[in-house]
Amino acid sequence: MWQHAGVAANSDCIFCKILAEEIPSERVHSTDRTIAIRDINPQAPLHVLVIPHEHQPNAAASAVADATILAEMVSAAAAVAEAEGYADYNLVFNTGPEAGQTVFHTHLHLLAGKRLSSLPA
Ligand code: AMP
Ligand code: ZN
Repeated sequence: MWQHAGVAANSDCIFCKILAEEIPSERVHSTDRTIAIRDINPQAPLHVLVIPHEHQPNAAASAVADATILAEMVSAAAAVAEAEGYADYNLVFNTGPEAGQTVFHTHLHLLAGKRLSSLPA
């Protein structure tokens, strides 16, 4: 299996290619096990994706593989929100195509600056 940064990766996966810097992205934060990039099609004034290095298809699979990564992703999102001047924000894991997931590498959406009308509020 193809690898980047010493973890399992998928050569067909756009986020694995972003992690390997084969596709450009605007990184706003990183930890030993995550990166955070600006979404290419922002749905709010702040729209960042927190992406773990390890390729898993969704957040539930990441939780099975190593649940501590989810806390690290939330902490990374909080750090980005604070750095960008937002005290309040939404965190979203789309899981499955019927729920709007289009990239099947775990990622946490950080959205701020706009109320999300289609979600419970
Ligand atoms: P989801 O629909 O939850 O799977 O979210 C995938 C997100 O990735 C969407 O919001 C896309 O706009 C975003 N996206 C897709 N390709 C890129 C890219 N090359 N750089 C940044 N964001 C991307
Ligand atoms: Zn991947």
